[in-house]
Amino acid sequence: MRAVLASANPGKLRELRHALPDWEIEPLEADDYPPETGETYYDNARAKALFGRDREPGRWVLGEDSGLEVEGLDGAPGIKSARFAGGLHVERLLAELEGVEGAARGARYGCELVALSPEGEEHRGTGILEGLIAGQPSGSEGFGFDPVFIPDGEEKTVAELGDSWKAENSHRARAASALPVALAAKRP
Ligand code: IMP
Repeated sequence: MRAVLASANPGKLRELRHALPDWEIEPLEADDYPPETGETYYDNARAKALFGRDREPGRWVLGEDSGLEVEGLDGAPGIKSARFAGGLHVERLLAELEGVEGAARGARYGCELVALSPEGEEHRGTGILEGLIAGQPSGSEGFGFDPVFIPDGEEKTVAELGDSWKAENSHRARAASALPVALAAKRP
């Protein structure tokens, strides 16, 4: 199955290609993505998918939106994750959590994935990865907040666990596996 991903993020493309091995996923070449003005990850994921469908009618299109929610910050940055301090998001997060300990450092990544068929049928998958925010960054793989996110059951950050771990376990991989169209393809 061939599909276009309405995102320019190479990390997302890599994870989704791995999570959907039967799909041939190409990134959408566009420099005018609409602003993320939705109130939920789903709203933004759907808006990206609709944008992709306008550009590439007649193809399967994937739209994705994701973010990080931190307990001690009342769920922030959440849907605003991409706009959180630009390139200095890890530094700002650690600064905001200075002196914060225990459960308040608990966090979760959330991801919504919307797949639109060429006929316009919508499929939706949701994925969550629970964890906590480390005291300092470590590791060099992944992207975004990965150097400070330690998943539940692990002792290393996602950036240390690496792209192969992420490809199997990330919130994005989980959302992809939950897509009804992906589930249907796995049925005997
Ligand atoms: P968007 O989905 O492109 O709007 O951006 C999501 C933002 O959430 C990214 O810029 C990161 O700050 C954060 N984020 C989402 N998923 C991940 C991930 O897998 N690793 C690290 N940061 C992530």
